[in-house]
Amino acid sequence: MTVRHGREFLAIPGPTTVPDAVLNAMHQPARDIYSDELLSLTSTCLADLKTVFQTTGDTYIYAANGHGAWEAALVNTLSRGDKVLILESGRFAVGWGEMAHKLGVEVEILPGSHHAAVKPDAVAKRLSQPDGNTFKAVLVVQVDTATGVVNDIPAIRKAISHANSDALFMVDTIASLGTMEFLMDDWGVDVSVSGSQKGLMTPPGLSFCAVGAKAKAAHQSADLTTPYWDWTARDGEEHYLKYCGTPPEHLLFGLRKGIDILLDEGLPAAWHRHALLAEATRLAVEVWCGGGALAFNIDNPAERANSITMVRTLGDITPQPILDYARSQCGVVLGIAIGEQAGQGFRIAHMGHVNAPMMFGTLSVIEMTLAALEIPHHAGGVQAAISYLAGQVPAQIQAKVVKGADEMSFAASPSQVNQQGNCCGDSGH
Ligand SMILES: *Cc1c(COP(=O)(O)O)cnc(C)c1O
Repeated sequence: MTVRHGREFLAIPGPTTVPDAVLNAMHQPARDIYSDELLSLTSTCLADLKTVFQTTGDTYIYAANGHGAWEAALVNTLSRGDKVLILESGRFAVGWGEMAHKLGVEVEILPGSHHAAVKPDAVAKRLSQPDGNTFKAVLVVQVDTATGVVNDIPAIRKAISHANSDALFMVDTIASLGTMEFLMDDWGVDVSVSGSQKGLMTPPGLSFCAVGAKAKAAHQSADLTTPYWDWTARDGEEHYLKYCGTPPEHLLFGLRKGIDILLDEGLPAAWHRHALLAEATRLAVEVWCGGGALAFNIDNPAERANSITMVRTLGDITPQPILDYARSQCGVVLGIAIGEQAGQGFRIAHMGHVNAPMMFGTLSVIEMTLAALEIPHHAGGVQAAISYLAGQVPAQIQAKVVKGADEMSFAASPSQVNQQGNCCGDSGH
């Protein structure tokens, strides 16, 4: 006996839930790769990606997953023997560094915790040492998907500048773009990389680089550059070369729709929605932690990401039964723990195409799982999430009921107004 039925809900940090509108946009015949339609698809996607990254720099689209964009960023800017500094805050920046190492780049890891954000002071201190100016680039992730940490990108930029370092600043926004503020130009980021399948709500298979002038200058002398990733080849007029071959048409149809959905909502609104759903999730987890069997992976509440929450299991409690029950009995797929945290917890994604019912559903299933498996926890996590969002999400429909309310001498409180929302048409979506 299960209560699993119908569509399985993905609460993993990528690929994330793909909106039906994106799936439908992909259901089209293939097009002539030289058609005007396809040329304009490319140019509008490249232009709108600049908006999403908040940059006037150049954008590039690769038929590749996020690792492809990692490699593109490295090979387009670096030469054999160059030295880079990796700011550790979990699995992902370290993985980017391992890739650089295999490419022939000298890699130094600034050791960090897997339970805390990168410390900008430590970055400044390392770069201020006598050999500090030998680093060609500093690499960091905005959100580390393995640990659930968010790094303070502007503060790290200040630390780099403070140390008078000339290094390129490269930021992985694969698990953060579209889910939280990222202002590439204002923050002084030289290269940003991202992917399609997380905040951008598109199937996996596309990734992006956004590149500022300083990185483009470095590109001129980079000797690691290989033809597929080469920015220069992609900068020309010829459409075919923008993808080093056939454009990944159907993924582009999907991306176009994903970006439309994001920009129609508005970046600040999307960031705010993520902040609210993330905080609701954290409040639920906080309550469950009262039982002593669970803990946040990131110790400082201010360093917990708005796209992913990593929950550790403590003592004798192992995460596999939780993952199994949620999936096989309830149809909710939670993220496994990876990297240094492998086998030590589970991850709840609140990233991309997520809304209140999706998150309430996910949180309710987790609380149900904890109860069914008799894992020590305090009940009421979901109620904490509900109470928080009820306080945060205003009723916005007073205008339409004022007249009737006056006539009925009905003093409309926000919650009373909200209950009448159905007839006013604009409340539920
Ligand atoms: C998912 C992810 C990656 C890897 O992306 P792939 O598409 O799996 O190659 C890299 N960095 C971060 C921060 C991620 O979340």
